[in-house]
Amino acid sequence: MVSKCANPECSAPFLYFHRGKLFRIDTEGRPDRRRNMGNENTSGRCLRRIEFYWLCDECALKMTLAFDKVSGVFVRPHVPVQAVKPAAVAAA
Ligand SMILES: [Zn+2]
Repeated sequence: MVSKCANPECSAPFLYFHRGKLFRIDTEGRPDRRRNMGNENTSGRCLRRIEFYWLCDECALKMTLAFDKVSGVFVRPHVPVQAVKPAAVAAA
């Protein structure tokens, strides 16, 4: 269960559902390479599972959560939509 902000550099504790932003991430298909530490109920048997992550108010303003099969869940800065330009322009 969520206990603190998902940003590793932030230590804000998760106290209220109405604060910050809650993310539900479906980690379907992620190869479970972590060894079972014995303190979790989630064995590697079921590859598909829903995980919850939370960003505090401060972090939710500046960043969001993303998931890929290689890195798992990670925090990344918000990319302002209007600032995104086609990558083709930079090519020589
Ligand atoms: Zn935070």
